[in-house]
Amino acid sequence: LKGKIITVVGSGLIGRSWAMVFLSGGYMVKIYDNKPGQASGAITEISRKQIEELQQANMLRGNLTAAEQLSLLSSHDDLQQALEGAFFVQECVFEDLEAKQTVFHEVENLVTESVILSSSTSCLMPSNMFSRVQNRTRCIISHPVNPPYYVRLVELVPHPETLPAVMDVAYSLMTDVGQAPVRLRKEIDGFALNRVQYAIIAESWRLVQDGVISVKDIDLVMSEGLGMRYAFIGPIETMHLNAPEGMVDYLQRYSQGMKRVLNTFGPVPDFSGEPAARIIKEICELIPAEQEHLTARRERRDQLLMGLAKLKE
Ligand code: NAD
Repeated sequence: LKGKIITVVGSGLIGRSWAMVFLSGGYMVKIYDNKPGQASGAITEISRKQIEELQQANMLRGNLTAAEQLSLLSSHDDLQQALEGAFFVQECVFEDLEAKQTVFHEVENLVTESVILSSSTSCLMPSNMFSRVQNRTRCIISHPVNPPYYVRLVELVPHPETLPAVMDVAYSLMTDVGQAPVRLRKEIDGFALNRVQYAIIAESWRLVQDGVISVKDIDLVMSEGLGMRYAFIGPIETMHLNAPEGMVDYLQRYSQGMKRVLNTFGPVPDFSGEPAARIIKEICELIPAEQEHLTARRERRDQLLMGLAKLKE
């Protein structure tokens, strides 16, 4: 796949991140955005990040230098030109079903049958998103996690008609550029990551809402507790390791207790009204919602993730 062309459609936060990931793997990347000047602006931003920040931090991914990676990158204000020669299209436009349907319809008319059409969507279903594409056997969702340069998971989600060979190409591409792909065998609302994430959010919210624990402390339960191991082993392996004789033993010891506790979980929170106001107030006392504070915390997050990514290597 090396040296091949990938077109990134939409050059916002995620489009730029994908471009950097693909460049690190030695792919030629053509960025397109329908907002004039946006794609070339993205190149300036990527250059700054690649050359200054990543090279300095010794965190530039792949075997190529920053200059070599940047020589593979181009920006385009014309979609047809951007798609020329591409074998893979990664769509990264706004999370809007109609916008995405239109983009895929336009793209399909400009590429040959064999080109893979991939979407970054976080929560739209493949069967809806690709409904205006004629040949849906080459359509797939490659859902990244923000920021993809440090958090390597990519959820691959097929349309019901997607060919296994298309899943395989996407899987190889993601592995080749150093991401960590997982395959969903069929589409489901929220995919896997957000379903697990929402389960965690819901119970955290209920515990704070019901006055059991503070916002600060529930976040510590995650960052100082569960999160410590979850960066390296998942929930199922955790079960397997947490009883002397493994999973069978774990289930004998703990399944009754798990079911008892799970049965006390409350309904889906409403995330509004008085409880939401209280939780908003509490988090904003810890981290004010002004841009300077949010930006500082995001930078801290990315810095720490960078260290963690290094450790995981
Ligand atoms: P963004 O708002 O930062 O960027 C969207 C870009 O798409 C803009 O530059 C816009 O000009 C461009 N655009 C809009 N319509 C277009 C069109 N018709 N043709 C070409 N370009 C167009 O959004 P983002 O955060 O980068 O999100 C992009 C996608 O990635 C969404 O589907 C989102 O759900 C998904 N995603 C986002 C995150 C995240 O944390 N931000 C994580 C995973 C997946």
